[in-house]
Amino acid sequence: MRLTAPALSLLASALLLAACKPTTPPADAPVDAAAPTQAPAASDPSDNLNAVLWIQRSEEYRANSLSIFRAAADHLDDAIAQTNWDALVPEERELIGEASALPPAVIMDIDETVLDNSPYQARLVQNGMEYDEVTWAQWVAEKKAKPVPGVLEFAKAAEAKGVTILYLSNRAQHLQEATLENLRAEGLPVKDESVFLGLGTFVENCEQHGTEKTCRRRLAGRDYRVLMQFGDQLGDFVDIVANTTDARGELLDTYGDWFGERWWMLANPSYGGWEPAQFNNDWAQPTEARRASKRGALELAN
Ligand SMILES: [Mg+2]
Repeated sequence: MRLTAPALSLLASALLLAACKPTTPPADAPVDAAAPTQAPAASDPSDNLNAVLWIQRSEEYRANSLSIFRAAADHLDDAIAQTNWDALVPEERELIGEASALPPAVIMDIDETVLDNSPYQARLVQNGMEYDEVTWAQWVAEKKAKPVPGVLEFAKAAEAKGVTILYLSNRAQHLQEATLENLRAEGLPVKDESVFLGLGTFVENCEQHGTEKTCRRRLAGRDYRVLMQFGDQLGDFVDIVANTTDARGELLDTYGDWFGERWWMLANPSYGGWEPAQFNNDWAQPTEARRASKRGALELAN
């Protein structure tokens, strides 16, 4: 599929907001997804080498992830006991209705929140490739992704307290079976197939845009009181209207207090909406042009 430059720009803006699948660039980047990149020489520098290495080889990554899930677990009892505790933003909850009498659930993004896809990214680094839908689907079909450190213990603790785990992911619906098999094989709670809210999930009376997750959050909120949300991208928690550094900053100004209580952010230095925000979400630019914008975004003094 080849898209025109304006269409690519619009798609990139819309789809990069709720990054979920792993990529170099993010899986939500339709440009590269549609057109696998010509592999540069393996000796070429990869923007992703240190990030992937950090995820795979640093104890700091493991400790960070464990800290997030353990802290979240410490908040579970309060979240369950306080019937007005809800992790959907008021604008979304108001459209759905009262939640206090609904059964509890937590919403979890999958990629780099529940499942670690760093081996896929390591392959891209080693082979000088960028993300594309074909290699991504092959990786998902392998069902070899391991749990992010700490998520298993949290999910089991939540399940034991009667909390349903909902997997709200931008993995496409056609990847549902392989994804659920991967989750089950790793011991993660999967109540039934309805807990997978992948990209393409139909939501009645809600118009969905690109990969944004608002409609699927509303769908979850109709049946559950959402105690917590977990993700590795801002778009996993709330709709991002414009993927700019300013708009992203304003979002954190508004909802920063929610993190560490109702919202839990996993570290993902490898990909995400933060990166294209540095180059106007224009994935159609050559790699070197994107790098030039990123270098230009570096702060050399405060
Ligand atoms: Mg993710």
